[in-house]
Amino acid sequence: MHHCHHALIRCMDFRLQKAVDEWMEENHLPDDCDMISVAGAGKDVLVNPDGFVATQIGLSKKLHDTKTVLLMHHMDCGAYGGHSAFENLEAEKEFQVREMKKIKEIIESKNSEMEVKMLLAHIDDDGEVEIEAVG
Ligand SMILES: [Zn+2]
Repeated sequence: MHHCHHALIRCMDFRLQKAVDEWMEENHLPDDCDMISVAGAGKDVLVNPDGFVATQIGLSKKLHDTKTVLLMHHMDCGAYGGHSAFENLEAEKEFQVREMKKIKEIIESKNSEMEVKMLLAHIDDDGEVEIEAVG
């Protein structure tokens, strides 16, 4: 059996790719992390708790004994209607943190011994990405 410690759930959005790669390098993750890349990141877990993303998490645990799920949502996410779906950045951030807390609860209740850590990626007007640990 091959082991790794982490599974990263992140949005497929191309704007995140380079920053996520760099962030993973900085955190020594590339050799220790399964990758689940899907529009809206964890949104699918809320929409369908036994659906695609939940299945991928279960497989990561079963195949690689993964202990930590890194749940990364991002601002201006098209799967959530982008910035324009929210009154302002503060409201959008609050919404995403609330959303991730609900997803964390579902994942942890379905997978004993798994811990979910929450991350929020900010994208500024120049396309610069900053990844923030939240919760
Ligand atoms: Zn997105």
